[in-house]
Amino acid sequence: MDSDRNPNHVSPDELLDRGQQALELIAEYLEQVETYPVLSQLNPGDVYNQLPQHPPIQGEPFQDVLEDIKKYIIPGLTHWQSPNFFAYFPANSSGPGIVGDILSSGFGIQGMLWSTSPACTELETLVTDWMVDIAGLPPRFRSNSTGGGVIQDTASMATLCAVVAGREQALRKFGKSLPMLTAYISDHTHSSAEKGLKIAGFAQDKIRRVDVDDDCRMLPEKLRSLIASDLKKGLVPAFVCTTIGTTSSLAVDPVRAIGEITNAHDIWLHVDGALAGCATVCPEYRWLIDGLELASSYCFNPHKWLLTNFDCDLFYVADRNALVDALTFTPEFLKNKYTESGKVFDYSGWQVSLGRRFRSLKLWLVIRHYGIEGLQAHIRKHCRLAKEFASWVESDDDFVLIQPSTLNLVCFRHQDGNDVTRKILETLNASGKIFVTHTVLDNTYVIRFAVGSLLTERSHIENAWTAIKEVARTSR
Ligand code: PLP
Repeated sequence: MDSDRNPNHVSPDELLDRGQQALELIAEYLEQVETYPVLSQLNPGDVYNQLPQHPPIQGEPFQDVLEDIKKYIIPGLTHWQSPNFFAYFPANSSGPGIVGDILSSGFGIQGMLWSTSPACTELETLVTDWMVDIAGLPPRFRSNSTGGGVIQDTASMATLCAVVAGREQALRKFGKSLPMLTAYISDHTHSSAEKGLKIAGFAQDKIRRVDVDDDCRMLPEKLRSLIASDLKKGLVPAFVCTTIGTTSSLAVDPVRAIGEITNAHDIWLHVDGALAGCATVCPEYRWLIDGLELASSYCFNPHKWLLTNFDCDLFYVADRNALVDALTFTPEFLKNKYTESGKVFDYSGWQVSLGRRFRSLKLWLVIRHYGIEGLQAHIRKHCRLAKEFASWVESDDDFVLIQPSTLNLVCFRHQDGNDVTRKILETLNASGKIFVTHTVLDNTYVIRFAVGSLLTERSHIENAWTAIKEVARTSR
């Protein structure tokens, strides 16, 4: 053996042993996750202060680290996989997703270029093409067309890439400077769009907020008149972000009507389908993406609702050249004959960072394990449970259902108003029985109840409703 060999390195046998222990821990965790308070009950600083304050000079036994994970890390988790987690939007994980991530870590590759791991790139192309068929997306998003899909970490990153591509397209076509570009969102567009616009250099006073209707959907006529007014001023409308399934209430912007406007003016239209986009694996929810063939780009998150461990956002563009031209930089040290042949995709040119993980593995494993029918069953079950929960809210005298419930989200409030509703939410979350979050719609404080855990059954919905009713009785 080489005398220089670092004695700390773990042999394949040791890896197997530790890996097995870690997997046992995960299996046990998932088996018990329902028994933990869903929202971590720790106070700020608790985790930091309990852990060893100095790094070890010499490596420590794995058992010691494992013990600390059990003692200090697990109690510091908010349990996103709990069947009683109804907060935000879900972040689904699943057995195949976990295994996919393990394999990705195990191979330890970095897929920035086709040549740095052809399988990483080509599996990603295959899986993103599969998803065009599975989710009923426009054929122009396929890799054998003008467009293509790529896996980003998050919807925020996808939106940022769309903003940059839209910015470059507008600058190229209209030859004006960045301060002249305008962008259009609504008050219900996710904050990541405004953040992306800011990062990409759009002037704050050129980011327009389009009015919405009573159901929080962007009004096409208002968008049209804002664009007309900007054109009159000599400005360049460059980017519109619409949403199918807004974060607050799952409102669905009318993509077709908006797309007709953006196409008439050569404006980049990005459609953000972060959570709701997952639902179109079921044909009955394809109405959500009506008009998507008019969009320049689209994203949705299998890490939210399609059983694929965080992080995994699917980002599609209709014209991949627009994206690649905006984001490709090839310094000398990255040049290679495959890139120069023009026959391969180098996905680092489709995203912000250079390096990239092998994310397609976990999505591929999930799809191969569940099949299309398994994915559909997952979505349908949550929608069914949410609908039933909404019917209980609707028929209850103490609570008011805010919007007609769509998909897996139910928004509601207490009839006594904002303060009582807030108190109910705070008491529920402090109890650890369930975890729900809130939003404000039309100055009304609203509880959002999002059904999305793989482990959630009807009994959990019933228990949640019982807990809510109980807390309501004592919160007035
Ligand atoms: N867009 C919408 C509509 C969302 O609901 C969310 C998060 O919930 C995001 C974007 C941001 O998602 P990510 O965390 O993947 O950036």
